[in-house]
Amino acid sequence: ERQCDLVVTALEAVADRLAEEKETLTELDSAIGDADHGANMNRGFQAALEKVSENDAGDPADVVKTIGVALVSTIGGASGPLYGGSIMSASQELEGGITADSSVAFAETYLETVESRGKATVGDKTMVDALTPAVHTYKKSIEVDDLDPLEALAKAVDAAQRGVEFTTPIRAKKGRASYLGWRSVGHQDPGATSTLMILEELLAVAA
Ligand code: ADP
Ligand code: MG
Ligand code: MG
Repeated sequence: ERQCDLVVTALEAVADRLAEEKETLTELDSAIGDADHGANMNRGFQAALEKVSENDAGDPADVVKTIGVALVSTIGGASGPLYGGSIMSASQELEGGITADSSVAFAETYLETVESRGKATVGDKTMVDALTPAVHTYKKSIEVDDLDPLEALAKAVDAAQRGVEFTTPIRAKKGRASYLGWRSVGHQDPGATSTLMILEELLAVAA
């Protein structure tokens, strides 16, 4: 099925990008965390690639769910359940296929699950700071501005980029970085950064 192929192509692009960026993400996490975010993300997405290639592709929702399960069981740390568990929950929105509307529902459920599991809100210096403006911009671009999903995703990537920049001058209130208190100021959040990288790859595949 074409939609399954698209999901697999996107997964390959994301996994390749995170492998390339492993050192960058680890460097960011070494400043305000425990220097494992690059390794965590790379391990998780390589495992997801393996799992997806072992399984016969069912419908796209199944493939996405398989990715989430693989991430939960291999990333570990704070980000494993946030990335993996949220992809698992959001995958149900794709059960009727991937459309503009179901992609908005996927994005919203993904954000809601990250928020409810991690209890972080915008301004806490986490992945939520990249994700929230990206998801809000994507939804508005499709539902209000009537843009096509590709244009909407491009706008979402720009919004996520600004969200990542916003994490630098603020103090961490959630996760390991919060242990540093004011010393976390001046450092870009690793999870927000990896979220942006993933969105950039989704855009590259969609384009
Ligand atoms: P750990 O901190 O357990 O080593 P990682 O290094 O893989 O996990 O991930 C760190 C990232 O996880 C942070 O940069 C931040 O973006 C994100 N994060 C941490 N705690 C939370 C939370 N409660 N809600 C949302 N994101 C969080
Ligand atoms: Mg870490
Ligand atoms: Mg860790």
